[in-house]
Amino acid sequence: MACETMAAPIERICEDLDAQVTLSAPLAKHTWFGVGGGCDALVQPRSEAALSTLLRRCAEADIPVRVLGQGANLLVSDEGVDGVVLKLDQPCFSGWQIRAHGDAELVQAGGGSDMARVMHESVREGLGGLEPMAGIPASVGGAVRMNAGGRYGAIGDVVERVTMMDAHGRATTHERTAIHFDYRHNDLPQGLVLSALFRLQSGDKAALRDRVVEIMKYKKSTQPMAENSAGCMFRNPTLPSGERVSAGMLIDRSGLKGLTAGSASVSPAHANFICVDKAGGHANDVMRLVERVVAQVQQSQQVTLQTEVVFWRRGDRAGAMQ
Ligand SMILES: Cc1cc2nc3c(=O)[nH]c(=O)nc-3n(C[C@H](O)[C@H](O)[C@H](O)COP(=O)(O)OP(=O)(O)OC[C@H]3O[C@@H](n4cnc5c(N)ncnc54)[C@H](O)[C@@H]3O)c2cc1C
Repeated sequence: MACETMAAPIERICEDLDAQVTLSAPLAKHTWFGVGGGCDALVQPRSEAALSTLLRRCAEADIPVRVLGQGANLLVSDEGVDGVVLKLDQPCFSGWQIRAHGDAELVQAGGGSDMARVMHESVREGLGGLEPMAGIPASVGGAVRMNAGGRYGAIGDVVERVTMMDAHGRATTHERTAIHFDYRHNDLPQGLVLSALFRLQSGDKAALRDRVVEIMKYKKSTQPMAENSAGCMFRNPTLPSGERVSAGMLIDRSGLKGLTAGSASVSPAHANFICVDKAGGHANDVMRLVERVVAQVQQSQQVTLQTEVVFWRRGDRAGAMQ
C-alpha cells in the first residue's frame, strides 16, 4: 500500500480513539540523528485501551505499526516510513514508582518513561542497579527491547518482569526466569514494551552517585556525545574463534576514522559512531556510509559487520510489529 493511501484509513481508524494523532508527521526531531523523513501518522495514545484498539484495527487493516522511544538507536530514511508510528509519552505509559519488597526494592516503570530520569531518581533514593544506564539515552521500552548497556552492565541484569502488548492489542507478562538476555538482545516476543519491573538493591547514596559520575566521565571522554548520532552503529562481531571483538577497533584498524559520505562521517573520537551534520544532514548519507564501512572492513579485516541501529524505510516492514 502506498504511503499516501495510508493516511486516510489511519485517520478513520483513530477517529473515536482517545489518542493524539498527527498525520504526515516529521520524525527527525524525535531522533538523535535529527535527520530523515516522516511517517503517515504519529499516534500518541492516552490509554492502554486506546492503544489496544488501535493495534487490533491496524492489524486487521494490514497497516504497519512501529514504536518510537527516544529515537536514540534509530535511523529513519529521508523518504520516511509507512503506517503508524506510536509514541508512548502520555502519562499512563511514562510514569514510574518505587515499591519496597523485602531486602530489595522494585521499580515499576512505564515503557515510555525516560530511562535517565528513572535511573537518577533511583540513585537519589539510594537504590542501585540502574547506574550502567548512565549516558545511554533511552526510553525504558527501548532500553529493554535493545538490552541496552555496555562495559558496566546491561538493563537485562535488573529486569524482573516485562509487560508487553502484541500486534493484536493483547497484553502479556514475561517473568525474568523466562527471558534470556544476551549481548544487545533478548528473546522477548515481538510487540511493544508496556512496562518493566526492575529489582534494585539498597546502597550508599553517595557511592551510587559517584558511580554515575564516573561512568558519565568515561563516556564523555570516549564518545562524541554532543554530535548527532545513534551511539554505536555496528554490533561487536563474534569471530569464528568465539571471541567477541570491538567493531570500533575493526573500523579504526581499517583506517576509516574520518571517512565521509556527504553529511555523514565516521567519528574521529570513536570509530563505531557515525555522526551527521546538524544542519542539512541526510539519512541517506548515513546509509551510504554504512555500506562503505561494511565493504571496507570486510575487505581489510575479513569480518562482516551487522548494524545495531534500527533502520526504518518506506516499503519495508523491518521494525514493524506485524
Ligand atoms: C550518544 C549515544 C550513546 C549511546 N550509548 C549506548 C550504550 O552505551 N549502550 C547501548 O546499548 N546503547 C547506546 N546507545 C543507543 C541507544 O541509547 C539504545 O539503544 C537505547 O536503548 C534506545 O532506546 P530508545 O528509547 O531511544 O529506542 P528507539 O531508538 O526509539 O528505538 C530503538 C528500537 O527499540 C524499539 N522500541 C522503542 N520503544 C519500544 C517499546 N516501548 N517497546 C518495544 N520496542 C520499543 C523501536 O521500535 C526500535 O526498534 C547510544 C545512543 C546515543 C545517541
